[in-house]
Amino acid sequence: MVTAIHRPTWVSVDLDAAAHNLQEIREWTKAKKVYAVLKADGYGLGAIPLAKAFQETASADALIVSNLDEALELRQADLTLPIWILGAWDYSDLKLFIDHDIVITIPSLAWLQNLPDFEGTLKVSLAIDTGMTRIGFDKADEISAAKKIIDKNPQLDLFSVYTHFATADEAGEKSKAYFEEQLRRWQELTINQGFDPSLFSMANSATCIWHHDDPRISFAAIRPGQLISGVNVSNGELKMPPNLHLERIFSVCSEIADVRFVKKDQSLSYGASERMPEDGYVATLPFGYNDGWLRRMQKSSVIINGKRMLIIGRITMDQTMVKLDRKYPIGTRVTLIGKDGGEQITVEEVANYSHTIVDEIQTTLAPRIKRIYTGDLAEVIGANYG
Ligand SMILES: *Cc1c(COP(=O)(O)O)cnc(C)c1O
Repeated sequence: MVTAIHRPTWVSVDLDAAAHNLQEIREWTKAKKVYAVLKADGYGLGAIPLAKAFQETASADALIVSNLDEALELRQADLTLPIWILGAWDYSDLKLFIDHDIVITIPSLAWLQNLPDFEGTLKVSLAIDTGMTRIGFDKADEISAAKKIIDKNPQLDLFSVYTHFATADEAGEKSKAYFEEQLRRWQELTINQGFDPSLFSMANSATCIWHHDDPRISFAAIRPGQLISGVNVSNGELKMPPNLHLERIFSVCSEIADVRFVKKDQSLSYGASERMPEDGYVATLPFGYNDGWLRRMQKSSVIINGKRMLIIGRITMDQTMVKLDRKYPIGTRVTLIGKDGGEQITVEEVANYSHTIVDEIQTTLAPRIKRIYTGDLAEVIGANYG
C-alpha cells in the first residue's frame, strides 16, 4: 500500500487535542490508569504518532492494540509503555510476546492449561466474559482454577482482569437491563476470587462517558478508544455530558482537482445515475471509494467556501464529482469532515448518512490517504518527518 503523499487529500490530526482528551477522561472517571486503545492503527488516525504523544505527555499508562504486528510496530517506533493485545492468540508467537514485553490475553482455561513451556516472563490478562460472548471466562470455578495456575507460576505476571460491556453506549431499556446483567455477572464471577482490585479494567469509551459515577464499576484502569477522537460514541443515542470537555481531533480534506461546465440534463459518472439539474459547474475531487469514501456517500455533502455542495453521480474508485454553486479555482479547499467557515460536517453526520457507527467511518479511511499531524506535540515527537 502506497500512501499518496503528493495528492492533496489528507486527514489532519491534532495530537495536543488527543492528549487533552485522555487527560480529560482520566479526570472525569478518576481513573488510576489509562490504557489507550489504539487498535486499527489508532482508529484510522495513526497509532504511532498518537502513542508517542501519549507517552510524551504521560497521558496513557499503557497502549492496547488488536494484534501482534500492531504491537511490534509500536515497539519498533521506540514506544516503551506496556502494550497489551486484546483477543485470543496462538502459542506460536509466545517468544515474541516475551522478548518485546507484550501482554497476551488468556481467553480460556484450556488455553492456560495447555500453555507450553517457555523461557522468561509472560505478562497475561484474564478476560472475563460477562455477556459479550466473544472471549474469556464465564464460570467462577474456572476463573478460580486459572488464578491458582497464575499464582503458582512465577513466569506468569498478571497485568489485568477485565471485561467488556456490550451496550454501554445505548439508551433503550433492554440495553440498560443488559448492562445491569453484565455488571451482575462481573460481581458473581470476580468477587471472593482474591484478585488485586487495582488490576480490574471494565470501562471502554461509553462506560467512561456515561457510567463514570457508578460505584459498582471499577475505574482502576480504563480502556478508552473511540473517545480519543472526541466524538459522540453512542451514534447519537446518548447526549454528551456538558461538563466533559472533549475536543474533536481530526478533519478530512481535499482540494478541487478539476472544474468543468456541464449543461442541464447531462448525465454524470458510472451508470449515468444522475443528471445535471441545470447548467452549471462541477468539480472533480481526488478521492473515491478506495479512500473509504464509499459509494453510499453519493448525494451527501462536502464543504467548499463555507457552503455545503452535493456529491453528484456515483463515487468512483479515485474521483468524486460535486455540483458547485459557481466556478471555483483548481486547488480550492474541500472539507469532507471538519469545519469551514460557519459550516461543519461531523463524523457522526457521516456515520448517520451511511447507516453505520463513527468507528466504521474512521477505520475505513484508507491508508493511502496521508495523515498530517498538528499541535505542539507534532513538533516535539517529529510526527511529520520520517
Ligand atoms: C475496542 C475495545 C475497547 C475500546 O472500545 P471503545 O468503545 O472504542 O472505547 C476496549 N476494550 C475492548 C475489549 C475492546 O475490544
